[in-house]
Formats: sequence, C-alpha cells, structure tokens
Amino acid sequence: MREQLEQLKNDALVAISSAVGEEQLQGIRVRLLGRKGELTALMKGLGSLSPEERPSVGQLVNTVRDELESGLEAALTAERERVKNERLQSERIDVTLPGRKSQVGTKHPITLIVEEVCEIFAGLGFSVAEGPEIEHDWYNFEALNFPPEHPARDMQDTFFVENDLLLRTHTSPVQIRTMLKQKPPVRIIAPGTVYRCDSDATHSPMFHQIEGLMVDKGITFGDLKGILTIFTNQLFGQKTGVRLRPSFFPFTEPSAEVDIACVICGGKGCRVCKNSGWLEILGAGMVDPEVYRHVNYDAEDISGFAFGMGIERIAMLKYGINDMRLLFENDVRFLRQF
Ligand SMILES: [Zn+2]
Repeated sequence: MREQLEQLKNDALVAISSAVGEEQLQGIRVRLLGRKGELTALMKGLGSLSPEERPSVGQLVNTVRDELESGLEAALTAERERVKNERLQSERIDVTLPGRKSQVGTKHPITLIVEEVCEIFAGLGFSVAEGPEIEHDWYNFEALNFPPEHPARDMQDTFFVENDLLLRTHTSPVQIRTMLKQKPPVRIIAPGTVYRCDSDATHSPMFHQIEGLMVDKGITFGDLKGILTIFTNQLFGQKTGVRLRPSFFPFTEPSAEVDIACVICGGKGCRVCKNSGWLEILGAGMVDPEVYRHVNYDAEDISGFAFGMGIERIAMLKYGINDMRLLFENDVRFLRQF
C-alpha cells in the first residue's frame, strides 16, 4: 500500500506539472481527490490493514493528499497568473502613440447663405418666420391670388400629398400665415425648403428659398428698392449695381425681377451672365390688394412689399460654384472648402 501511494503521488505530480490550462488541472484534482478519486479509493482500503500498520499508513495518506493539494494549488495559481499576464499583454495600450483626430465638420454653403441673409435682414429690423413644408392648397395658392386655372397648380409643377395637401412650392405661404396671426407692422424673413416636380442639370426637385415681407402704413416701391439695394450691397459687396425690371407674379402688383451687376465680370459681360453684365437674383413687388383681402388687412390703410430668392443661386454666385448638383452631393472634399 505504501508503494501504491508513492506511485500514485509520483504519477500525479508528473501529471500536474505537464497539465496545460486550468481545466486539465481541475480534471486531475477530481481524478485524484474527488469522491470517486484514486486517493480516496486508497483511503477506503485503510480499513483492511492491520491495527499496527493503520496509523503510519494513514499518516502517509494524509501527507500525500496534502502534497497533492498544495501541488495542485500552486499549479492553479501559476496558471491563473499566466492567463492574466497574457491578457494584460494583449490589452496593453501604448499611451505614447499619437491620438486619432476627430474630424470637425463645416457648415453647408446653403446654411451659410441662410445665416448671412437672415443676419443682414435682422439688422434692418426683420425677424425670422417659419412655416410647414406640407402645406394646404389655400395657403400655398389660393390666398396668394393664384386662380384655380393657374399653371403653377398643375400636377407637373406641384407634388400633391393628398386632396388639398401639397409640398409647398415656395416659402410665400409663410407670409399668409404671419399676416393671419399678426396685424401690421410686419417685417419678416422666411427661409425654408420648397419642392417642385423639376429635375435636370439646373433644377432640383427640392431647393431653398428666402422670402421677405414688409407691411406697414405708407410703404412704397422706393422702400423696396432701398431695402434690396442695402441687402445686395451687404451680401455681394458695396458697389454692386442693382436693376429692377418689370415682371409678373400673382401675389404682387407691380412686380419686378431684380438683377445685380455680374459678380464674375463686374458688368463687362461673361459666360455666367450670358454677356449681359447682369444676373437675376430675386423676384419682388408690392403686395397685391387681393392678398390683403384673404388675411383681413385693409388695403386702403396699409401697403407693403414682398420678395423671394433661391438660396442655391445666391450660394453659387457668392462662392463661384458652377454646378448646382455639388450642393446636394455632400462630398466632404467640396463642403470642407467653406
Ligand atoms: Zn458676367
């Protein structure tokens, strides 16, 4: 029995020293010291020894068990230490490596123009007004004096949502909403997204407008020209010439197209201005009395003007962008230049 114990101890120590991983070590513990383990089986055999032999063999069994247990414990501790070191090594962070820079974005040219235009008009006493992009036919057309048979109401130009709901084709309904809420004096600027069934190299089905409205006692066409001259001079530079040409819009009478001297050639004539020396940048006019009737203003008592411009066009002229699609592709190499 002593020999068996010695043999078992030697075999076990070899097994422990060559075991790989905690799982194998735990397996060895069960095989030796478990309830049905080899050493446990030997201990059960103690009963068959003579009373003289029993104490010394019993003591040897205890010694072997203690040795095996401490051997296993040491091996387990070493194994856990090894695993921990391995993990620390693999998760090691080199704090001396250069950091990864997070890219800072830039404002989109459309946003820049909206902000700049709003700021110029804020300086002239205008406040910013906004309205819904899904609009009722009445606000978008009827109240702005578009007769029912007007071509702008055609399916070809307007995205209809359902029945009388549509995607607004201009920011002008904001004028109506403002005048219905507020008595004169009114001085607003309304930037926003508008939609039309139109898509080619120079048109996008979604684009941006800024609309302005000023209504008070005694507002004249001279005030309109004065305000627009101040505006274009601030936006494009102090000496930009301004010219008004007669035009027509359903909601203004009289109406005008507003041109500025070509910002590319300074008025000498170039490809951008088609050799005319002038660039059309906005439409404007005195608010038609028919519009006042829809918002319960007394046209005998007050007067005012409205104007509207396409933000994309202003951005292209101001920043020298030659293709409108660049404004919608959102290529960061392009956007980062602003
Ligand atoms: Zn030109």
